[in-house]
Amino acid sequence: MLYTSTRDNSIRVTASQAIAQGISEEGGLFVPCELPKFSLDKITSMTSLSYIERAKTVLREFLTDFTEEELDYCVNGAYAAEKFSSSKIAPVVNVHGNENILELWHGPTCAFKDMALQLLPYLMTVSAKKTADGKTIVILVATSGDTGKAALEGFKNVENTKILVFYPVDGVSPMQKLQMTTQEGENVAVCAINGNFDDAQSAVKSIFTNDEIKAQLAEKNMMFSSANSINWGRLVPQIVYYFSAYCDLIEQGRIKAGDEINVVVPTGNFGNILAGYYAKKMGLPIKKLVCASNTNNVLTDFLKTGEYNRNRKFYATTSPSMDILISSNLERLLYHMSGEDSNTVNELMSALSKDGKYRVSPQLIEKIQEEFSAGYCDEKCVDETIKHNFDDYKYLCDTHTAVAVDVYENYVKETGDDIPTVIDSTASPYKFSKSVLTALLGGKTPSLSEFDMVDELNKVSDFDVPKPLKALKDKKVRFTDVCDKENMSEMVFKLLNL
Ligand SMILES: *Cc1c(COP(=O)(O)O)cnc(C)c1O
Repeated sequence: MLYTSTRDNSIRVTASQAIAQGISEEGGLFVPCELPKFSLDKITSMTSLSYIERAKTVLREFLTDFTEEELDYCVNGAYAAEKFSSSKIAPVVNVHGNENILELWHGPTCAFKDMALQLLPYLMTVSAKKTADGKTIVILVATSGDTGKAALEGFKNVENTKILVFYPVDGVSPMQKLQMTTQEGENVAVCAINGNFDDAQSAVKSIFTNDEIKAQLAEKNMMFSSANSINWGRLVPQIVYYFSAYCDLIEQGRIKAGDEINVVVPTGNFGNILAGYYAKKMGLPIKKLVCASNTNNVLTDFLKTGEYNRNRKFYATTSPSMDILISSNLERLLYHMSGEDSNTVNELMSALSKDGKYRVSPQLIEKIQEEFSAGYCDEKCVDETIKHNFDDYKYLCDTHTAVAVDVYENYVKETGDDIPTVIDSTASPYKFSKSVLTALLGGKTPSLSEFDMVDELNKVSDFDVPKPLKALKDKKVRFTDVCDKENMSEMVFKLLNL
């Protein structure tokens, strides 16, 4: 299988080139030239397999330049039992009726980013051996919380890699900050910056593209790469759990092989839901993909009207990982849906960077609407949804998952389409204890420290606290550096000991 670029469809690269490089030279994103097709028999035959074997069945079709030994090494390492708090890795839990929750947060950092970032370091080091002759890969990450920790945990002590994470000094939750500043590993470093997430993100991008810095790294036999969701290596692991969830529903007797399901995804950068779209195109019987947004509802408006417009107020919500106004992976959907038309993608993307908006043709948005539905949920609805799901069904969900549950409930009310449904759950409620506890208590926030908040939520809900979060209480803080955004490149050299 070969990959091309959304902005130049004459490009052809292998999977390992796409993964090692991260982004195409002219700024486009790598996409498969053609998708593998899974027959119903093939899907059904995966039902009896473990998550690891299901993952190999799907990934084998995409990573055609990996040997079977390399695939084994990557997948067995990423989803090793001791790293996940569920032996199913990504279990499906029935809440009531046809509403099923796919729990994607049983990994080491308790957010769904682990599903991809546990595998990416393996894919990247194998890819680099094939394409980048033994260079040390330096991963630079700007994070608003979940990606940074998941990337640190994924890359810690991985041979021939170093990882540096920058986070906005006042822009992450107390739990997220502690997760990062206590990070273990010989090849990791973490630094706060005076500024917001966008500042960190732009500074990282300018370091990435600075030829002088690149040359200095090359002298030391190092190269930069990216661990965020524009990298194909982060998207492809996410296709697996849609197949896995379908097999689990068959196994649980909730559907018969061949039955259609709906999928609902709490969305930010459009990576997770795009993986669901790829699964559908590969033959998984998915009827609708429902895109759920919080108050930053730029995607809801786009999917309803065909106009994408980021010129709007930015809201800091209780579901911060979805506080995004530029959903980068939408570019991949536009490419596929426009009939692999890189000219259209180029026009839309330059309009987005120039005017902050674009409008697609009526034919294109109609085609997209055949596959996708959309809705959003404000802060009050998030709280009500957390509370009513717990009171009515004894299911405790985090703020991001609550956005999806609310949008799903409204989707059923509006359409009457109540076929068996999988709702992605993207974080443990204990990562956002304060917001979740406040919602359960009907709006009253107890004045407690972060860990007392965790204990209190545990008492009120009787839900288990994930071990990795509990253990943070006794961990030593290792990283206390704070720098100004202008000095980030110096910090990179200092942290790399150059
Ligand atoms: C990253 C993240 C999301 C958004 O996922 P995308 O792939 O960016 O759409 C949703 N919820 C949580 C908890 C996340 O960490």
